[in-house]
Amino acid sequence: MKIAIVGGGIGGLTTALAMTQAGFRVTVYERAAQLTDQGAGITLAPNATRVLYHLGLGPDLEATAVTPPMTEYRHYRTGRVIFRLMTKDFRELYGAPYLRLHRWDLQHALITRLAQTAPDALKFGSCVERIEPRKSQVELRFADGRSEIADVVIAADGIRSAIREALFHPAPPVFTGFVAWRGLVATADLPPHLCESAVAFGQGRHINRYLVRRGELLNFIAVAHRNQWEEEGWFIPAPLDEFLEEFSSFDEGTQTIISRPVLGKVFKWGLFGRPWLDEWSSGRVVLLGDAAHPMLPFLGQGAANAIEDAMILTRCLKSEATPEQAFALYQRTRGPRARAATDEAAKRGERYLGEPNAESLKGNEPGAEYAYDAVSGPLGG
Ligand SMILES: Cc1cc2nc3c(=O)[nH]c(=O)nc-3n(C[C@H](O)[C@H](O)[C@H](O)COP(=O)(O)OP(=O)(O)OC[C@H]3O[C@@H](n4cnc5c(N)ncnc54)[C@H](O)[C@@H]3O)c2cc1C
Repeated sequence: MKIAIVGGGIGGLTTALAMTQAGFRVTVYERAAQLTDQGAGITLAPNATRVLYHLGLGPDLEATAVTPPMTEYRHYRTGRVIFRLMTKDFRELYGAPYLRLHRWDLQHALITRLAQTAPDALKFGSCVERIEPRKSQVELRFADGRSEIADVVIAADGIRSAIREALFHPAPPVFTGFVAWRGLVATADLPPHLCESAVAFGQGRHINRYLVRRGELLNFIAVAHRNQWEEEGWFIPAPLDEFLEEFSSFDEGTQTIISRPVLGKVFKWGLFGRPWLDEWSSGRVVLLGDAAHPMLPFLGQGAANAIEDAMILTRCLKSEATPEQAFALYQRTRGPRARAATDEAAKRGERYLGEPNAESLKGNEPGAEYAYDAVSGPLGG
């Protein structure tokens, strides 16, 4: 069976690795000429690392990852600690670690492992413009005029998935009202007491900061409200003074951190969503990751759910007689789980809009979501 994966993001690359290791022949078509360092961090909860360790990535990730002992939630103006989430025991509790990484370190690990298992699987500079179903195959048409035939197409082309729109709703993603800024700070430029993980919030704004890359960098994501948003993309440079002004009511320590981004650069982007989709497949084409179920970032589970999708879809294709049966089983297994994460991420966003409150933050304690086992848990829900 010839499997085409559209999109070489975290979802597409993990799928390619899982499927290659399971014995499938896959090709990943990525529109970018090469994958670039996006200068951002990512949290990988145990439900995601369980899959990545199973795929052999443990040593690669641990070479640079940071496992924080705890995350403190603080009052935005005073810096007073309102709630502590102990993260150091997660490996023992859930059988897999809670890691914080530079996104590039994760992508690099995935690409390197994939190249070792299937050297020619990843094709850069391959923008899929449209897909055309054939009898029991699918034709992929590329922007440069090329075409390829596959038995199965996995659309891992992100929140702006053109394949999703072509197959289901031709409706663009909608702005959620949240705008985010991101930046990295070299910890060598900070006093030691500021080099830790914390979330400061209040008055409808919050800043989440955490260490990545062996503790050499502190990643921050700051979120505020806006009525509308017109720009596009993850690389929109934002004026530093405008950003600092937006968060000028935050405590002195937080302001020290955000005023020192590497090369003085911060980026901003709008957070978008899509209506929930009950069906993720049509014929031989199936959606995965943000293309299927984009969610707000407040739960830190978007990439984790894409990673779970990758493992479950691989197992379904292995266990079922036809791709259509595999897609139905994948849908039954993944739908409720991804829906719960999407809803919880939205709720958590609401929590950060209100005033800092220890009682409501208890809802941030993880539970079943971190125990989820995509590697050997039951299929079919
Ligand atoms: C601020 C923020 C912080 C986040 N933090 C976390 C976190 O800490 N933990 C977590 O688990 N999740 C986090 N997420 C969510 C996470 O980043 C996404 O859920 C995840 O990247 C989705 O992966 P994906 O592979 O589905 O899509 P993407 O990463 O968007 O990848 C899609 C890929 O498809 C390619 N592509 C698109 N169209 C085409 C085409 N036509 N042809 C070929 N290629 C194409 C793109 O170039 C891209 O490489 C965060 C998100 C945001 C916005």
